[in-house]
Amino acid sequence: MTETKRCMTPDCCGEHYSRGICRRCYERLNKRVMRGRTTWVDLINEGLCKRVKSRLRRDNKVIIKEHIVYISLNPDYFIGENI
Ligand SMILES: [Zn+2]
Repeated sequence: MTETKRCMTPDCCGEHYSRGICRRCYERLNKRVMRGRTTWVDLINEGLCKRVKSRLRRDNKVIIKEHIVYISLNPDYFIGENI
């Protein structure tokens, strides 16, 4: 499923970037965090953003693992490649 996620900020229709929000909202909140006005944990508790997921990294590992399994099960994988 490659459904495009949307920003969770009300009245914002930006495309999801990180922490459940779009890039603009992320940078806006990031500035507040950088200035020491709040923390990401506070923002999460306020429901303004989500926890960072390390899903991408895990997905990549799974993809690489599946790819290695695929190659090992398909010895002809490299045949026909013009190197
Ligand atoms: Zn947004």
